[in-house]
Order: sequence, then C-alpha cells, then structure tokens
Amino acid sequence: MFRVDRLVSLYLSHPFVLTLGPSAGSRVPILMYHSISDNLFGMSHPYFQINTVPEVFSQQMRWLRNSGYRTSSLPEVLTGLQAGEDLSKTIVITFDDGYRDFYTDALPVLKQCGFTATIFLATDRIQLNPARVEGADYLTWKDVRELHGEGISFGAHTVTHPDLRSLQPDQIEYELGRSKEIIEDHLGVTVESFSYPHGFPEEDKDYTRYLEDVLCNLGYDHGVSTNLGRASRKSNRFFLPRIPVNSLDDPSFFQAKLQGGYDWLHWPQLLKKYFFHRTVALRERALDNKETSSR
Ligand SMILES: [Zn+2]
Repeated sequence: MFRVDRLVSLYLSHPFVLTLGPSAGSRVPILMYHSISDNLFGMSHPYFQINTVPEVFSQQMRWLRNSGYRTSSLPEVLTGLQAGEDLSKTIVITFDDGYRDFYTDALPVLKQCGFTATIFLATDRIQLNPARVEGADYLTWKDVRELHGEGISFGAHTVTHPDLRSLQPDQIEYELGRSKEIIEDHLGVTVESFSYPHGFPEEDKDYTRYLEDVLCNLGYDHGVSTNLGRASRKSNRFFLPRIPVNSLDDPSFFQAKLQGGYDWLHWPQLLKKYFFHRTVALRERALDNKETSSR
C-alpha cells in the first residue's frame, strides 16, 4: 500500500533530523506495541494497525540489540532527561491492553535480547482465566504475577478501556483510581504509571490539565499517551509521546522512527485534532443557539 507517512519519514524527515535535528541523546523513543500476533483486529489503515506478527517483532528486537540499544524504565528515563544525561541508544518498550500473546510471543524474545518492558492493563480484561474480548485473549492475574517476577513493569490503562472524554468526573476518577488499586492489590507494589486509552486529546488544554490533576491526586507519577514522537525534557510527564510500531514497519522504516524520522507526524496529528475539536465546538454552539431560540 502507498504510504505518504512512510515516504516522508524515510526520504525527507529522517535525513533532515539526522543532520539538523536535536541531539539523539536528548530524545528517547518509547515504543508502543499492543498485540504480538497475526490477529488484525479489523483495522483498515496501516497507521492504525495494532498487531505486530511474531516474526517481525522478533526481527525488530534483534535489530535493536545488534544496534546497541538498551531498554530502560519510564521513571529512569524521566530522571535521565531531567538531569540532561546522554540517553542515545536508550529505549522504553511498552505494551497496551494486556494481551496474552505478550506471555507466549513477546517475553521469550525480550528475554533473549536482555530487554525489559512495561505493560498497561485494562483491569476488567484481566481475570483468573484468560478472558476473550473481540477475538483476542488477555493475560490472567497469574500470568501478570509471573511476568512481574521476571522483571516486567505494570501500569494502569483504566478499568473498562472507555473513551474517558465521554464520562463524568466521578466515573473518570473511578477508571483511573480503581485500575491502579486492583493492580496494586494483585502485585503488592505501588503503581505509578498510566497509559491513556484511545487517541489522546492534547488539543483540549482544559481537559488535559484536569486529567493531570486527577492523576496526580490519585498518586500517579507519570504516564504515556498516543501523541507521536520521542520523549524529551519538555514532554508532559503524564502524557509522554510514543512511537507506534506494527507489522508494517520494515527495518528501514523502524530505524527512521527510532531516530526521529517519524516525529514530524505529530504536527498533522495535532492539526487534525484542533480542526476536529473546533468543528465539534462550533456544532455544539450552533445547537445551543437553536435550543435557546426555540425556547
Ligand atoms: Zn488500549
């Protein structure tokens, strides 16, 4: 399939970032994976595809290891960025939702490469027996405890994986607070990391500021979002940007993404959200006016 994002990243943005961009040591790619399987989840455009087939995942990990990359945790990276440390060749690997294929297809490869990862759990989908939602199996609490013992970190990804913007404040607090508590109860450690489910509405400043307050009050320390790009000192620690990865990332595209060649896509992503946000706001205002005049 013809992909503009791939072409621009490979032939315009990547060479540009390498010569004129910020120093590699001040930016850390946080990779965003979901499912390591052949399961397509009915996604249409490659940009939204959330599965990485096991062979491609294994290739990507081996490439990272052979290129001298090391994995780190989110708290370590945040401290390093603040201290101005040189973080070249440092990456964070994250997995959203808690698919069971992490256990069967990702963990053995990560172990072989000496890598670690963070998994963000939507806690309602984690049960005593593997839960099956929309054709995909999820980790069990026994798996989660075992993975934690293997050095895998866990964060919260809400209870029911809702679109948080459609909820009332008390429901939002429940989704964020309860998921944290449940994981803490099962693992016996404090959970300080959060991953925002669905597209992150970064254009809505009032909402994101409110969300940051809620996360802070509930005892979260940091988190990740679907904002595109590599994390820097200036990133908001609760909504760190990530690099989405899937099966369609061939070696050169994967390398370009890691070295900042994909960061440009954040601007069209943000513009699109602003435009949508404005359209919705205008439509709501028009409806309000209509209601007021018909009253
Ligand atoms: Zn998710």
